[in-house]
Amino acid sequence: MSIRNRIALQFSIIVASILIVFSVVIYVVSATYRREEFYERLKNKGRTTVRFLVEVNEVDQKLLKIIDRNTLTALINEKVLIFDSRNHLIYSSVDDQIIHYNAKLLNEVRQNGEVETYSGDNELVGLLYRQNGRELVVLSSAYDRFGRSKMENLRLTLGWGLLGGLSITIGLGIFFAGQSLRPISRINEQVSAITARNLRQRLDEGNRQDEIARLAINFNDVLTRLEQAFEQQRSFVSHASHELRTPLAALKSEIQLGLRRPLTVPEHEEVLANLLQDTDRLISLTNSLLFLARTLESIQSVPFQIVRIDDIVFLAKDELLSAKPTYRIEIDYENIPNDENETQVTGNEDLLKQVLLNLFDNACKYSPDHTARVRISTDHQFCRIAVHDQGIGISEEAQQHIFESFYRANNAMNYDGFGIGLSICAKIIELHQGEISVTSQLQAGSTFTISLAHI
Ligand code: ADP
Repeated sequence: MSIRNRIALQFSIIVASILIVFSVVIYVVSATYRREEFYERLKNKGRTTVRFLVEVNEVDQKLLKIIDRNTLTALINEKVLIFDSRNHLIYSSVDDQIIHYNAKLLNEVRQNGEVETYSGDNELVGLLYRQNGRELVVLSSAYDRFGRSKMENLRLTLGWGLLGGLSITIGLGIFFAGQSLRPISRINEQVSAITARNLRQRLDEGNRQDEIARLAINFNDVLTRLEQAFEQQRSFVSHASHELRTPLAALKSEIQLGLRRPLTVPEHEEVLANLLQDTDRLISLTNSLLFLARTLESIQSVPFQIVRIDDIVFLAKDELLSAKPTYRIEIDYENIPNDENETQVTGNEDLLKQVLLNLFDNACKYSPDHTARVRISTDHQFCRIAVHDQGIGISEEAQQHIFESFYRANNAMNYDGFGIGLSICAKIIELHQGEISVTSQLQAGSTFTISLAHI
């Protein structure tokens, strides 16, 4: 069932229940009121008749019957019967009919003084009348045609009112539910039109206030992020192919040069040495790309645990120095941590070590003294590692791009590298919900700082 119909149905059930309860209450109250009013009339009639008969000497049974039949307010099937204490009928307002009476009813009247009951469709009242030691039972009955036809009218009015009310409610329910859900249908149509090729398209954000507008705003945010991811992927592929093409072209021209004429042995050696150098560069680039691809692929599923960041700093130092012994790394604490928790963070040791390796490597690579100065500092919330060098520095403009894949600043072109390391660092730090930043001045040096929330 569609949401529109479900809302309309719920709305109709609620209104229908209210209408039904309301109608039933009105009907029951009116019916009770009619009955009581009619019983009251019958009692008055019975009392008047018995008083005329017993107390007014001038009135005999004949006269009383004449009065009864000619009263303007006479009711349908009206009958007044008076019985004495031995259940003998001493007065009947009708004489052409066979009189049925029930001795049990008469006794009940004598016991209770007053009884309200039915006789077929007629209402019947029994009254006990006492005077001068005489006990008379008066039965007064009649058919309340006027009251019953009023009740019939009320039943019809309530029934049709209920039916009309329900139809209007269902109609309005469907209409208003459709109105409220129309923006969702619109969003639905717009979403169906979005494919990987037109990720630029955005949903109509309407009044930017209600829940549906907020849904559209959030969806647009997701689209923006998706578009960026697609864009990054596209540029990654084109950069990667470009980077691979350069050493391959160099390889090809070296080989062509070697084939052009017969070479002497030293010339052969030179060509082979060049080929080896280009192949090494190619291998190194392929390894970096592979590492980047693997890291990005598995970055969401790496296990996190509590690790000591200063321990990882020392591990990274040892690993880098064993691969590149000419480098120097000086590690220093800016402040003594208040307790050992201040250098403990929740993260992945291998990934954090990779970040530090990249930063240490860059600092040593891009500075003439091949020295990285590392400072560890902590405060009540964060643990920071600052990696400082006195190297070539990074221009203001280049600082905006160094965390993008394959970006290399102009002054770094004479150094080995592919521009991948810092983009990996940024992704890993983002995964750890930390921050990485850089301050630098050309020819003076650079400081890369990562800050992670400690436990
Ligand atoms: P790579 O060092 O392999 O080129 P990275 O992603 O590590 O790649 O760095 C991207 C760019 O940022 C470098 O090419 C360089 O221009 C700049 N850079 C990074 N670290 C430093 C540094 N310590 N000093 C100067 N420039 C740096």
